Amino acid sequence: MGSLAFRVALAPPLVGRSSRHARISGARYRLSRCCFSSQSAMASAALEIELIPCLKDNYAYLLRDASSGAIGVVDPSTAQPVIEALERRGLKLTHIINTHHHWDHTGGNADLKKRYGAQIVAPPGDGIPGIDVPLKDGDTWMLGEHAMKVIGTPGHTRGHVSYYFADSRAVFTGDTLFSIGCGRLFEGSAQQMWSSLSKLAALPDETRVFCGHEYTLSNAKFAMTIEPNNPALNSHFEKVKQLRDSGLATIPSSVGEEKKFNPFLRPASREIRRSLNLSDDASDSDVFTAVRKAKDRA
Ligand SMILES: [Zn+2]
Ligand SMILES: [Zn+2]
Repeated sequence: MGSLAFRVALAPPLVGRSSRHARISGARYRLSRCCFSSQSAMASAALEIELIPCLKDNYAYLLRDASSGAIGVVDPSTAQPVIEALERRGLKLTHIINTHHHWDHTGGNADLKKRYGAQIVAPPGDGIPGIDVPLKDGDTWMLGEHAMKVIGTPGHTRGHVSYYFADSRAVFTGDTLFSIGCGRLFEGSAQQMWSSLSKLAALPDETRVFCGHEYTLSNAKFAMTIEPNNPALNSHFEKVKQLRDSGLATIPSSVGEEKKFNPFLRPASREIRRSLNLSDDASDSDVFTAVRKAKDRA
């Protein structure tokens, strides 16, 4: 059995300024890992996840299964930061994993595929070219020894999917669920997005949420306008400000945390309903729709 330690390493320029938040996440993971079933604990090595800042505010994620040598990257905006992260660790990319077709999540695909011969793992029907491993909602695919479950999460785009690693307690949500926010509705309806977010909210609370963008601070500012008396939101807002003031990533959060302070996952909040002039009779989907519209106007 290999090391159970989990690692959220941050690429430069965040290295050195980022270790506190990364360590906190790792410590929480190791504690919960103690309680895993014997079957989970038998996994030969933990999935390592490295956050790679790309472009202005995108995150790609390098995934490494040390026991098999499988190396995946989720949503490479551009090739260069991913190549640098691989070379720094002497690794060779085997898979490119996309949540949806937007250029800031697939822009590095062609160069990385050409350079490493990596296979593209993605949902068909979302306009991503060159897919080698087409995956749809409900499929399970193995990155080395780690099972990756595909969760269909349309709304931002019509074929958007999220990827859930139960054994590593991690979900990659692309532009569907952000920390304290959610993606814009470019190709789908509000009802579709609400259904997608509900699937993600149903994952275990300790599941770490790795999303596609560092939008957390502006999302928190908006959330404070419609639920200013939420204590969990207030305290997390302070933490987010400190992290960003120090140049640190606010990712990952967790499903349990998001349910406490993400206004898009809180349709039952009476304060949010009052802020948006919605009655107690309004459906959860209606509340979500109103929050999305208010954010679009913000
Ligand atoms: Zn997008
Ligand atoms: Zn994006």
